[in-house]
This record gives sequence, structure tokens and C-alpha cells, in this order.
Amino acid sequence: MQKAIFLDRDGVLINDAGRYYIYKTDDIIINNGVIDALKRLTNMGFLLVVISNQGGVAKQIYTKEDVEKIHSELKRQFKIEGIDIKEYYYCPHHSDVEKCLCRKPEPILIEKALARFNIDPNKSFMIGDNKRDIDAGKKVGLSCIKIKPNQNLLDVLPHINT
Ligand SMILES: [Mg+2]
Ligand SMILES: [Zn+2]
Repeated sequence: MQKAIFLDRDGVLINDAGRYYIYKTDDIIINNGVIDALKRLTNMGFLLVVISNQGGVAKQIYTKEDVEKIHSELKRQFKIEGIDIKEYYYCPHHSDVEKCLCRKPEPILIEKALARFNIDPNKSFMIGDNKRDIDAGKKVGLSCIKIKPNQNLLDVLPHINT
């Protein structure tokens, strides 16, 4: 089985200070430490998977195409650095609009990845800046690390044991 790092997107990979929804590629600011931390985690043998709530789709603030564009641009920027995020899973729903089973703190998107990539949750981690991220990870037995929004991602490395 493989081991993985599950990453929240906004507030962890992308700087979301002062803006709740990020849906324009020009607004992508990669947080400090992200590139180095993801390289090191890759070298430690972890798969990288993004798990993101994108309730702005349900609220019609932006579209799924906007979300896909953000993910394509992230892929492009990470590829230059030799970083490969296996998949970008996101929930486009919002409980204000329609209930769903995939929005964090529900763990279904994580479960999908566990099955698809044959990941052992006992050797895997969730990194998020919100209680929802941590609650989702705990439900499937991941070790969970809560950071402050937009905290330097290198700070998590001492907490990741292999
Ligand atoms: Mg977040
Ligand atoms: Zn959903």
C-alpha cells in the first residue's frame, strides 16, 4: 500500500488571506514553504492529493470550469518544480444550497483517493487550516495536522513521521 499527504487547497497551498474564494488564475499565490515542503514529502515517498471544498460553485460565484482552470495552473506551476499532485478532488456543493455527501467534514473524497491509489490511512496525513479538514481526515484514520491559515508549510515537516 502507498502512503499519502492529503492537502487542503485554499489557505494551505494557495494564499487566501483577505479573500475567501479563489477562482481566477491570476489570483494564485503559492504559500511560502509549499514548493520545498512538497518536494521533501515527495522524496519521503508520499503521494500528494488535494481535497478541497469549492462551495462557490453551488453559490454560482464561479463555475466548475473556473475550478479546473485553477487546478490546471497549479499543475503547470508544480510541474516546473518537479512536483506531481496525483489528483485534485473537490466538492462543488454548499450546504446553503444543497446538501451533499462529499463536502468536508465528510470524508468521501478522501475515501475515493484511498481506494483509487491503494493508500494506507495509517501511514497517511491530512494537512488543513480548518477544523473541517481535520474532522474529515480523522473519520478515515489519517493523522491530522492543523496549520494556521497560510502558515509556512515547512513547519509541518517535523510532525510527519514515516
Ligand atoms: Mg482552507
Ligand atoms: Zn459535495
